[in-house]
Amino acid sequence: MGSVKVENLTKKFDNVTALNDVNLDIKEGEFFALLGPSGCGKTTTMRCIAGFESPTSGNIKIGDKIVNDLPANTRNCGMVFQSYALFPHLNVFENVAYSLNIKEIKKGNIFTNMKTYGRMLNGRFFKYPKEITEKVEKILSYVELDKYSNRLTSELSGGQQQRVALARALVMEPAVLLMDEPLSNLDQKLRHTMRNTIRKIQQDLGITTIFVTHDQEEAMSMADRVAVMSGGEVMQIGTPTDLYSNPKTPFIADFVGTSNILKGTVVEKASDYVVVKTNGLLLKSYLKTEKDNVDIIIRPEHINVTKNVDTNSIANILEGEILVSTYLGSIVRYDVKVGEQEIIIDTTYKSGEGIMAAGEKVNLVIDPER
Ligand code: ADP
Ligand code: MG
Repeated sequence: MGSVKVENLTKKFDNVTALNDVNLDIKEGEFFALLGPSGCGKTTTMRCIAGFESPTSGNIKIGDKIVNDLPANTRNCGMVFQSYALFPHLNVFENVAYSLNIKEIKKGNIFTNMKTYGRMLNGRFFKYPKEITEKVEKILSYVELDKYSNRLTSELSGGQQQRVALARALVMEPAVLLMDEPLSNLDQKLRHTMRNTIRKIQQDLGITTIFVTHDQEEAMSMADRVAVMSGGEVMQIGTPTDLYSNPKTPFIADFVGTSNILKGTVVEKASDYVVVKTNGLLLKSYLKTEKDNVDIIIRPEHINVTKNVDTNSIANILEGEILVSTYLGSIVRYDVKVGEQEIIIDTTYKSGEGIMAAGEKVNLVIDPER
């Protein structure tokens, strides 16, 4: 059983509270991401689950079992680190076979059918049991490294090293796969490819996976659900679309995607709308609130920018001036000055269309639903 429960987990290092009452309920087979800025407690959470740190208070459950007092090597968690932590003096095959071999030796299994494998060292070939060799070969072909099994890991590219680290964790057939910023050392393009590779392998194997990242795009594109952390606490848990469309706080809205966040005061409360005053602007919203001081959060793609506007529209219409326009391929981003406020707008770019330039006067149209 590969479900993971973290219950009221608090972890203190002397007087630093790294985690404060963290609760997570990760389902078997789920791809779950921990997302948050550096220092928010992601690694500490992972280390508590893996068994490298013990909780100050609270419980870690894997399956139905409380594992607080179990040593790391009995928790059935595979771990992939940002640094890969490979053995540079061993080749790819040996790196992947290493822990599996030790596990079998510890179990006291006696294999009679040894298969010579790999390279000579001190005049002798390494030998591994046939069963281990087959498992390693299978997993290496899975991560498309079968042709590299004789290479020293120090001779591999970053992406290949990353896949060795992944193979080494997977070959142990863990119930839970823990990955701590596994893509951070790769260049942008490779990171995108590896996202797909990891996601595909995770889905094929159906292995419960906890994936740590500070990169919101990575978390949102890969995970079934995401927990956003800040200052040792979980701020919100949800599917990527939940978090994006219903952020509970400005912090989440800002961290998960780009947002225009305007501080305002409610000046009118009607039965089906409110009017908020922000920096001299009046905005109508169908999202209701009882509060007087509010944050208005508008996604850049939820604002229309136009030269001619239907003045009968029930939407919010604001007058502004373009400060910067940035062509980003499929979208054009406009920074528009509206009164004292700067607002970011993303519009889909259709090939052949004109792009408005800095200094042009425009109208912004904001749907009160948004
Ligand atoms: P993240 O992985 O999100 O960057 P960490 O879990 O590594 O964050 O760290 C969370 C907090 O706990 C930080 O303030 C960090 O300095 C502190 N911390 C982590 N490990 C230790 C340790 N072994 N001793 C003291 N403080 C630590
Ligand atoms: Mg970390």
